Amino acid sequence: MAEVIDLKRRKSKDRRIAEGRARRRAQAVASSLSCGMCPRRCAHCGLAVEYTAPPPVDAPYPFCEVCQEEYEAFRRWEKGEEPEAFWHTDEWGEAWRAWLAHMRAGEAFRSSPAFLRLMEEHLE
Ligand SMILES: [Zn+2]
Repeated sequence: MAEVIDLKRRKSKDRRIAEGRARRRAQAVASSLSCGMCPRRCAHCGLAVEYTAPPPVDAPYPFCEVCQEEYEAFRRWEKGEEPEAFWHTDEWGEAWRAWLAHMRAGEAFRSSPAFLRLMEEHLE
C-alpha cells in the first residue's frame, strides 16, 4: 500500500515538473515573439522611440528615425537604385530581407491556432 501511495506522489511530482517546464517553454516562445511588438520601441534596433507625428504609412513596424531611413534606403536599394552608403551591400540587403521575413513568420505563428492554444494552456 505504501508503495502505491509513493508511486502516486512520484507521478504527481513528475506531472508538476512537466507542467512547469511546459509553462516556461510557452513563456519563452511568447517572449521571443513579442520582440519588436512594443509600439514605444524601435522594432529593428530596440531603442525607445517617441513619435511626434504618426509613423510613415509604409513602415511595417515602429522604427526609430535612423532605422526608418535605413528601411527606406533598403526599399530603394531593392528596387535597383544605387547604394546610398558603403555598407549597403548584398549582405546588408540580405540582413534586412531575413529580418523582415523573421518578423512576418512571427506574425503568422502568433495568429496560428497552435500558438493560441499554447498560450491558453500554458500561460496564466
Ligand atoms: Zn531603430
